[in-house]
Amino acid sequence: MRIDLHTHSDRSDGTDSPAELVRRAGDQRIDVLALTDHDTTEGWQEATEAAERSGVVLVRGIEVSARFAGSAVHLLAYLPDPTHPELVAELDRVLDGRNGRLPAIVTKLRGLGLDIEADDVRRVAGQATALGRPHVADALVAKGVVVDRDDAFSRYLGPRGPAYVDRYAADLPTMIRTVAAAGGVSVIAHPWASRHDHEALDEAGLAALQDAGLAGIEVDHQDHSPEVRTVLRGIAGNLGLVATGSSDYHGSGKVDHELACNTTAADQLDRLLELAADARARSGRDAPTVVGRP
Ligand code: AMP
Ligand code: FE
Ligand code: FE
Ligand code: ZN
Repeated sequence: MRIDLHTHSDRSDGTDSPAELVRRAGDQRIDVLALTDHDTTEGWQEATEAAERSGVVLVRGIEVSARFAGSAVHLLAYLPDPTHPELVAELDRVLDGRNGRLPAIVTKLRGLGLDIEADDVRRVAGQATALGRPHVADALVAKGVVVDRDDAFSRYLGPRGPAYVDRYAADLPTMIRTVAAAGGVSVIAHPWASRHDHEALDEAGLAALQDAGLAGIEVDHQDHSPEVRTVLRGIAGNLGLVATGSSDYHGSGKVDHELACNTTAADQLDRLLELAADARARSGRDAPTVVGRP
């Protein structure tokens, strides 16, 4: 079984449409794929239709922008009811933060002497609901200012870059509870990725989040060294958290994140889906289930 539980489409900062993404997964003999665009469920419908045609098992998810002890944390929310009022309200707040930040980033870039406007970014963002720095990077690539997204992040857009602007993110423990109330399960994406501060996500911090309803942590991810993976797998074992692995595929938007470059073990997916079924039953919500049979 090839199981990839974290991928992006062009509804956020990936470059494949949801249907292209599912088709590609089928071509590459991936059995189970999760679509987890940043802060939006906009791609779910198209991905569902494509999965029904192709036979790829689809897990519908969202990678929610959250904050914990002052640090940015990405939360993979699998199978929540996308109409749950608190979830909708919080995702709207995050998307508003993304939209509001865009002009501020553009103003900073213009202050650095670059000829760029918010509309240039919106144009390259195409179908995206969740606008982000990767789209600003694409606009800079189109203008020949940088060679690729990575270059844009290191020269301008990264946390210590001259055009960096912060944005709203959801409170992590609150979001974990909201996902559970919406009948879904939560997994922390790349908890110890070098790009993020992660002091608060030590074993004690993860145990506290587990009390709030956290189901698992993403262990096998390109931003984790072999040593980090070993330690995180140990923590998951100690706490009884599900350990997942995934590509964080963004199409051509991120190098070295090919589909299924990391995968989730079948027994871990089984546990995750059992926890999702429990959460769904407890919530009383009409939460989605997996498309197809794993
Ligand atoms: P934002 O959503 O605007 O906060 O931007 C963060 C997103 O940019 C992350 O989800 C990553 O997918 C992407 N990202 C971060 N660093 C890089 C990089 N060096 N190259 C390409 N994409 C990146
Ligand atoms: Fe991304
Ligand atoms: Fe992420
Ligand atoms: Zn991601």
